[in-house]
Amino acid sequence: MSITIALSKGRIFEETLPLLAAAGIEPLESPDSSRKLIIDTNHAEIRLIIVRATDVPTYVQYGAADIGVAGHDVLLEHGGAGLYQPVDLRIAQCRLMVATRVGFDYEAAVRQGARLRVATKYTESARQHFAKKGVHVDLIKLYGSMELAPLVGLADAIVDLVSTGSTLKANQLVAVEHVLDVSSRLVVNQAALKLKRKQLQPLLDQIASAISC
Ligand code: ATP
Ligand code: MG
Repeated sequence: MSITIALSKGRIFEETLPLLAAAGIEPLESPDSSRKLIIDTNHAEIRLIIVRATDVPTYVQYGAADIGVAGHDVLLEHGGAGLYQPVDLRIAQCRLMVATRVGFDYEAAVRQGARLRVATKYTESARQHFAKKGVHVDLIKLYGSMELAPLVGLADAIVDLVSTGSTLKANQLVAVEHVLDVSSRLVVNQAALKLKRKQLQPLLDQIASAISC
């Protein structure tokens, strides 16, 4: 039986490579130099597919891929239906944060019970976060360049991923609240785990034992 692994280009692909190598899996091409979306590996029965980061859970949920690697942020938005999430790979680490323009008094706005306009790609995580805090928000769904929204008056705040903070700084924004810590997880199709356990379990174990603490 063959195994299909869904990955996204960029940091997830790069940071998953050493974990796959620990399981003896090496891609025969790089998604950066090749335009192919299906990449063969040194094992005839194992292939990689290259999809958008937000689409990884969908491919695995429907069994088009047996396993995949997806950010915790992406998994929370997707909802995780049909997915087994056995391991936190501790790669692609960042934080989901609330950020505003420098000079916007977020604490005061929250204290005064103001209704805030918040732009984000992460509407589900943002909704849960503000509901837990009891803050009233109007969420505006965006698909990228969230940093722009407070600068042009689209929103009072954004909820976005932050690693070094340099993108916020370059746009005169500042992180004002932590929402959650993010890293990427291995996701496994639940049916595939039953049907292909003999092949998948050793692979999952080898990947898990290669995770850096
Ligand atoms: P694209 O950048 O092509 O629009 P994307 O933002 O969904 O797509 P990536 O930037 O590769 O894809 O992010 C993939 C995952 O890596 C995210 O879901 C998140 O978990 C994590 N991530 C995002 N930005 C950072 C960052 N700056 N540092 C570390 N990890 C990050
Ligand atoms: Mg990105």
